[in-house]
Amino acid sequence: MVRMTEIHLIEQHQVRTVFPSIDRNHTPRSQRYFVWTVGCQMNVSDSERLEAALQAVGYSPSNRPEDASFIVLNSCSVRASAEERIFGKLGQIQYIKQRQPDTTVVLWGCMVGPENQSLFQAQLPMVDHFVSPSAVDQIVALAPNPVYQIEEPVLPVRDWQHPPVSVFVPIQYGCNMTCSYCVIPLRRGRERSRPMAEIATEVQKLVDHGVKEIVLLGQIVDSWGHDLPGRPTLAQLLRHIHDTPGLLRLRFLTSHPAWMTDELIHTVAQLPRCQPEINLPVQAGHDTVLQYMRRGYTVARYRELVHKIRTAIPHIALTTDIIVGHPGETREHVAQTLALVEEIRFDKIHIAMFSARPGTRAAAQEDDPTLAVAEAEKHYRRRQLEQVQERIATDINARLLGQTVDVLVETESRGKWRGRTGGNKLVFFTYPIDQTGRVVPVRISHTSPWSLQGVCLDQAR
Ligand code: SF4
Repeated sequence: MVRMTEIHLIEQHQVRTVFPSIDRNHTPRSQRYFVWTVGCQMNVSDSERLEAALQAVGYSPSNRPEDASFIVLNSCSVRASAEERIFGKLGQIQYIKQRQPDTTVVLWGCMVGPENQSLFQAQLPMVDHFVSPSAVDQIVALAPNPVYQIEEPVLPVRDWQHPPVSVFVPIQYGCNMTCSYCVIPLRRGRERSRPMAEIATEVQKLVDHGVKEIVLLGQIVDSWGHDLPGRPTLAQLLRHIHDTPGLLRLRFLTSHPAWMTDELIHTVAQLPRCQPEINLPVQAGHDTVLQYMRRGYTVARYRELVHKIRTAIPHIALTTDIIVGHPGETREHVAQTLALVEEIRFDKIHIAMFSARPGTRAAAQEDDPTLAVAEAEKHYRRRQLEQVQERIATDINARLLGQTVDVLVETESRGKWRGRTGGNKLVFFTYPIDQTGRVVPVRISHTSPWSLQGVCLDQAR
């Protein structure tokens, strides 16, 4: 899945303008929207697409929900804490709706599934519409005061005056797996791959407008294409879009150990714009827990994959996701996970504590006191993993000290330029000239487990 367990619970509200011909400073409240997003990269991508579409029909963004007549909350249900944040926001929205009853409120995203809409309708009277994840067109159709009609597909960029350096492009929606802890298949449905030609056209248009890096998104991105005529593969898609003129970097998220193929590994190794980074969620380091989780692979299969990847791409940055505290997990199991982490030495681990999601198999197991793991114990296991990983990441990053790395510069951040290496490590450096969107050589002068600092050596290449 797309960073589910590793989800950073991005809480995002950015305001940008897209069509300079519209005087957005004087747009009335009746044509202002407010989009609030919690969740993974797929949600961020959905919201970017929605905002671009709302601007295309004549709406302008609003900084505050009370200044907008159309409010969309893009929700996440991957953990209970994400849902609690949404309920908190809905409390604020309820107050606005009482004072301004003409406000239209939409609850969107992974909290909205076919099985819970009627429950929510009773519980959340401030919400006018409930819309399933990714259904951008449905939401645009609910906006009460459009000025224009959308005549061609809208690209997921909210501000063409300042186009982002890197853009997420969803290539597949839904998931066919049945991982015990995961609610995504219930909410996002079966896998649907976008056709190759449609993706290639979108990538070309984005790059033509100044985007430098494309990140292809899917819940199991490696399975892209199996439901399309001719069953094209992700490796074929990468080859197809790799030579898009102007494209500097290509990445994909998130892989699944049961779906990753030799063809994909060798394609990443061969294509120079494919960046040396793979996120390969292992989730646990013991076969018993992997079986509880219904992940569909063994630790031995995972090790074998890592060996293949590192043989083909020796400089690969390997990241993973791990859940601690799944029902049935014991300290002995966790010891095996810690041993695997020490053995593989990941560049980064997204660690999540198990959170029971209603309707999932693991939620039922959590009700069994012989299987459930106490909250304090989950915290303990997470800390154990974090400590081990911090030491490993410190060591891996320290090896870059004094080396020169290519950095794609994304933005200015607190007086420095911020960018990423091919292995997706954050780098900060100072330079007198705007370097945004360029790949520059940076000599690393300081490292930490989380980021690097350096000196830009040269003019932009
Ligand atoms: S069911 Fe499994 S593979 Fe699918 S999105 Fe959830 S965690 Fe990922």
